Amino acid sequence: MTIAAEIQALLAPVAAGRATTRFDAGRADIVLDVTGLAPATRDALEADVRATAASVAGVVEVRVLQTSERRQRRLIAVASGKGGVGKSTVAANLAIALARRGRRVGLVDADIYGPSQPKLLSVEGIRPEARDKTMIPIPTRFGVPMLSMGGLVAEGQAVAWRGPMAGSALTQMVDADWGDTEVLILDLPPGTGDVQLTMIQKHKPAGAVIVSTPQDLALIDATRAIDLFTKVGVPVIGLLENMSGYACPHCGEVSHPFGEGGAERAATRMNLPFLGRIPLEMAIRTASDAGQPPAAGNGPEAETFAALAAKLDDWLAA
Ligand code: ADP
Repeated sequence: MTIAAEIQALLAPVAAGRATTRFDAGRADIVLDVTGLAPATRDALEADVRATAASVAGVVEVRVLQTSERRQRRLIAVASGKGGVGKSTVAANLAIALARRGRRVGLVDADIYGPSQPKLLSVEGIRPEARDKTMIPIPTRFGVPMLSMGGLVAEGQAVAWRGPMAGSALTQMVDADWGDTEVLILDLPPGTGDVQLTMIQKHKPAGAVIVSTPQDLALIDATRAIDLFTKVGVPVIGLLENMSGYACPHCGEVSHPFGEGGAERAATRMNLPFLGRIPLEMAIRTASDAGQPPAAGNGPEAETFAALAAKLDDWLAA
């Protein structure tokens, strides 16, 4: 029997299939899968594994590498350069569409200027509870639990918060009891203020989705948001064009009140992926106002959001 096989055999009752051993020139390298174990149990197990391996003749040195399969929860920022471009609408519907693909998704509404997620997700007026000072996200009918600045303060007051307050509210929400949620969609306020600063310093997102209208001005602002993320090394997952083209509900003619293809050209120019377009549609506005996110339905709008979520899902899986 080789020394590696001997160590492996001795570890079988100790590590219950969690250890993989390699042996070379006196050194045993053991990879220990500690998935699901509490920190104290992990360390006790590592100590046992070390002692067992060290007891084998010929072993001079033992190295143990702990690995855990549970991937860290990832934050995806949804951002825009300015307000009113449909960023919150996109964040809510993207979260729902992603959850419909089987991902465990939560939503954090950090938009101090207009915390609109409680209304969009039909949980207006419900305040989150806390357990041991940790907030418990509010479940929604759409399979996406959420926390919002809007649930923390009286309506219309969040905007008056000083920077540090808004930043610490963000931290409370991100560090809430999200359970096994794997993706947190973060609805950011527009621009590059205090909430963005806290996010970058404390809760670095895995990636950012930038929402813009085809309007030139919005694109210039969007460029600033993109700059912020690239400067701090947060990958921009892509640019998404909202309110792109208007289909007349009477004659069906599609017009482009904000210009056509601007966001896609901007994405190409900046060498960023273009994620797609969402048309300006009465149905999206009325459904959103009624707390019935279109992504949760079965209409063509649901398909639009499903296609966007598929791209985000691919990015997450890559
Ligand atoms: P932001 O978060 O960028 O300030 P919102 O998501 O609050 O913007 O959207 C602003 C308004 O525009 C809301 O009334 C929303 O329902 C509406 N809206 C957003 N996207 C669309 C769209 N594609 N078609 C129609 N109305 C939209």
